[in-house]
Amino acid sequence: MGEVDLAAAVKVLETAQSVTVLCHVQPDADTIGSGLALAQVLRRRGVPVCVSFAEPAEIPVSMRSLPGIELVVPADRVPAEVDVLVAVDCGSAGRLGSLRDRLDGARVSLVLDHHRSNTRFGTVNVIDESAESTAGLLARVLDAWGEPIDRPIAHCLFAGLVTDTGSFKWTRPGSHTLAERLLATGIDGAAITRTLMDTHPFGFLTMLSRVLATARLNPTAAAGAGLVYAFVRRDDTIGVRSEEVESVIDVVRTTAEAEIACVFKESRATTNLWTVSLRSRAHPDGTPGVDVAAIAAALGGGGHRYAAGYTTAGTPDELVTALLAELG
Ligand code: MN
Repeated sequence: MGEVDLAAAVKVLETAQSVTVLCHVQPDADTIGSGLALAQVLRRRGVPVCVSFAEPAEIPVSMRSLPGIELVVPADRVPAEVDVLVAVDCGSAGRLGSLRDRLDGARVSLVLDHHRSNTRFGTVNVIDESAESTAGLLARVLDAWGEPIDRPIAHCLFAGLVTDTGSFKWTRPGSHTLAERLLATGIDGAAITRTLMDTHPFGFLTMLSRVLATARLNPTAAAGAGLVYAFVRRDDTIGVRSEEVESVIDVVRTTAEAEIACVFKESRATTNLWTVSLRSRAHPDGTPGVDVAAIAAALGGGGHRYAAGYTTAGTPDELVTALLAELG
């Protein structure tokens, strides 16, 4: 674990008079799980607190059974002014979407995050890029604060831990220790995982068949590391949830011949506007693989060394050309 000033986070949280917890746009279970875990601790302490995210308007279906979900308010109901604003799992202010203006109305803004590309946009920034999840970082903050992790809070932290580790495929020293501790509170880890990661409507299969038909392999990209990519067009997403769209990369990135995987996901609202998921991995000999956070940053996004993303516009050919140019 990196040297992280947990006490700085505790100092802000223990004196907070009111708190807004903000999750990133297109929220995943790490940002929502961390947000709800923290909000439940604050509620237990009698601090007025709400949780929100800018878009989409509704919380993803798979996360609706998380404890504390009643603390989520629509973006337009987030107060303009608050004592403390906490951004969880957000690498930059842009990840707050339309709610980034709430930073200006907060006496203190605390950024809790594990993204390597974090821009330190808060007044207090507690960032651990060695943490596997923001949930894992938050667990250490709660320990430093002396706030117990009870069963509902453990459920939310487990949600973030299991998703950001890909069901414990990408772990760090301490990841399993935390999982064991959370499970010991009595939560049903298998059920939480199945709900979040392993349940799709039938439409996922037909969507996948169309999307995987677009997959292409470029073995010479990135000086021979290789790139595999696929496109999720607007029409492919009709009748499936964001969870299904976000799952495509996990199939594409299993390609042996490419160290870098990419899925271009077209906006549901706008033709030729795309969010892009990038993945890479360490070389088989254990040396570091391509840093896709740097690639994503060059294209206006950010993320982790092996998982990053960006937003862009253009035709499919233009997207591939721009990405290949960055990969070299
Ligand atoms: Mn995360």
